[in-house]
Amino acid sequence: MSAAAVQTARGLDLEARGHAMHALAERLFPLHRSQTGDGLRRTLAEIGREVAMEVREIPSGTRVFDWEVPDEWTLRAAYVADGEGRRVIDAARSNLHVVAYSRPVRARMPWRTLRDRVHTLPDRPAWIPYRTAYGRDEWGFCLDHATWKALDREPDREYEVVIDATLAPGAMTVGEIVLPGAGDGEGLLWAHACHPSLANDNLSGIVVAAELARWLGERERRLTWRIVFAPATIGAIAWLWSRGDAVERIRAGLVLALLGGSGGFTYKRSRRGDAGVDRAAAHVLAGSGEAYEIRPFEPFGYDERQFCSPGFDLPVGRLTRTPHGEFPEYHTSADDLAFARPEDLAGSWAVAADIVACVEGNVTLRATKPYGEPRLDVHGLYAGQGGADDGGAAIRRAAAWVLNQSDGGRDLLAVAERAGLPFDAVRRAADVLIETRLLAEETGRSHDRKETP
Ligand code: ZN
Repeated sequence: MSAAAVQTARGLDLEARGHAMHALAERLFPLHRSQTGDGLRRTLAEIGREVAMEVREIPSGTRVFDWEVPDEWTLRAAYVADGEGRRVIDAARSNLHVVAYSRPVRARMPWRTLRDRVHTLPDRPAWIPYRTAYGRDEWGFCLDHATWKALDREPDREYEVVIDATLAPGAMTVGEIVLPGAGDGEGLLWAHACHPSLANDNLSGIVVAAELARWLGERERRLTWRIVFAPATIGAIAWLWSRGDAVERIRAGLVLALLGGSGGFTYKRSRRGDAGVDRAAAHVLAGSGEAYEIRPFEPFGYDERQFCSPGFDLPVGRLTRTPHGEFPEYHTSADDLAFARPEDLAGSWAVAADIVACVEGNVTLRATKPYGEPRLDVHGLYAGQGGADDGGAAIRRAAAWVLNQSDGGRDLLAVAERAGLPFDAVRRAADVLIETRLLAEETGRSHDRKETP
């Protein structure tokens, strides 16, 4: 992509954006997020201080398609203390120390009884793993293996084991930023918000989504954009269940996750494989100068599984850097704030913003004077645009392509692909040609519109 095009979406303040996103991640990092509960609520409230957000509570027990909204988990304390009251494991030191959704426990037991309840990573003895007990009547702790081994030397030593938690009917919290657009289509940006104290998974997705919301909020919009923060899986299913009206209008969407780390980008196509967002992502990444890989859809991964389930089959892809399970820090305490650096976040935001800008600007046009080339000078084009400078030449080249290819059947992205030009150059040429009435928008054409039977 040309420097000019990159600059359009990314702005000159990329470095400042990177630091702003990292600062938000720092504020969110200590909050104890889970599928439900106050950590999730406080996370959404903190994001809502930056961009106005609608927060909804979906009651426990609500049937959502084949699923049910879980009971709310509230944790007050979780620790293992020795005979002197010294806490050898304490969730106050790291949220990862307690298995999420552990049922309450208050007992005394020797280490040989407790040891199998304490999860470690023997291959990474300094790291604490992240574990959940969603939907299971369990409890447990997570610990670095080095400490576990030290405790394991005295199997008969007695410990006080406390998980002071409540698992009871409450609600699951979902946050949604809605930015109305001029047209009737919608765009979706989605970040899972249920993980505690892990920076890449998924504070990176959360802060990039929040920054995209702030940026989109300051732009004119064709699509209405919904930026949603919710627990993975059950949050996506409940959102789809409760937002049938919006779902019908979705023309493009991105699941945003794992956007920290220094790895290259991975775009996972929608189930359709050739949706506008798939083409936009491929076009932007090809011109980004970044290392990247494009993968086909598969029914594994993050919330694209729900958006791309057959009943919805939405045009929603997934943008990550290195995917889950493919970097050693995944779901461990090593996925910390140093792992998602400001420059990684800034680069991720820039790619995501370029894809969003491409989706926003991609319309199908029709030349109003298609018989022979129109006489551009007669239509007052380029008279005041210098003409000698490089920008003028580039836009004339893009204009020639747009005029030639806009027969009502090709969208602007197809024009850019065929011309080998950055989308932004084609879009800017189109804007000039629309203004001079040499092009008109072809309404009602979008192959990403959900077909109604
Ligand atoms: Zn995860």
